[in-house]
Amino acid sequence: ALAVSLRGVTKTYDTGVMALGPLDLAVRKGEFISLLGPSGCGKSTALRLIAGLGAPSSGIVRVSRHDGEAQPGRVQPGHGIGFVFQEPTLMPWTSVRENVRLPLRLARVPKAEALARVDAALASVGLADFAEAFPRELSGGMKMRVSLARALVTDPDILLMDEPFAALDEITRFRLNNDLLALWRSLGKTVVFVTHSVFESVYLSQRVVVMTARPGRIQADIRIETVEP
Ligand code: ADP
Ligand code: ADP
Repeated sequence: ALAVSLRGVTKTYDTGVMALGPLDLAVRKGEFISLLGPSGCGKSTALRLIAGLGAPSSGIVRVSRHDGEAQPGRVQPGHGIGFVFQEPTLMPWTSVRENVRLPLRLARVPKAEALARVDAALASVGLADFAEAFPRELSGGMKMRVSLARALVTDPDILLMDEPFAALDEITRFRLNNDLLALWRSLGKTVVFVTHSVFESVYLSQRVVVMTARPGRIQADIRIETVEP
């Protein structure tokens, strides 16, 4: 079954910049794939189209829903999709707990259930003891963990990550790579991971899709033979 399918997808911005495609890409449910390519090739654009943040200029974006049916057209942001950006974009004036709870507030999940889910999400990223902390008290890696917990708290089928670890130091980045891999193995989510790092793409994913310079098209689609731990 497919989690995501792009067929003949292009994107030309209002500025006239042709950012993407035509792109054909199918991602199976549970697959962990990386999009790798030079800066400006359209990786973020592709991710935003998958997330339903903006429409393609041509072509079809399909994203599976919880019911397993692939639906044509745009998806509602947040429906079955978690998004992690390079900038953690946490609200500085509220606690870690309230930051992670935000998507559940928007979805009007009752408080008791929401708090239980927030605690579980924080535990899954190793931050069980930091619910009361404020973002300014956290390191860059910990802020990224909060951002990941916030993306996971709605239990999305698909996790989209846009160069999430690019701003972190090498050791923190490697720790987060390992923790993300462990999470993926235990949660079984579809992950589309945008990165500049060849190492990161090969280390994390089952499949590396290499894109050309703008407009981004597929130059190589490489299957990684992962040895099970
Ligand atoms: P990448 O993620 O691979 O760095 P992007 O998808 O961010 O690439 O950008 C692809 C191209 O589209 C770039 O030339 C970028 O400047 C342009 N672009 C991205 N977003 C917008 C936007 N909102 N409006 C106009 N041009 C954009
Ligand atoms: P990245 O390369 O990490 O994807 P960028 O620096 O290209 O990030 O873009 C950061 C933000 O600026 C994105 O939200 C993108 O949509 C917007 N953006 C990028 N290029 C342009 C542009 N030429 N015109 C308007 N917005 C842009």
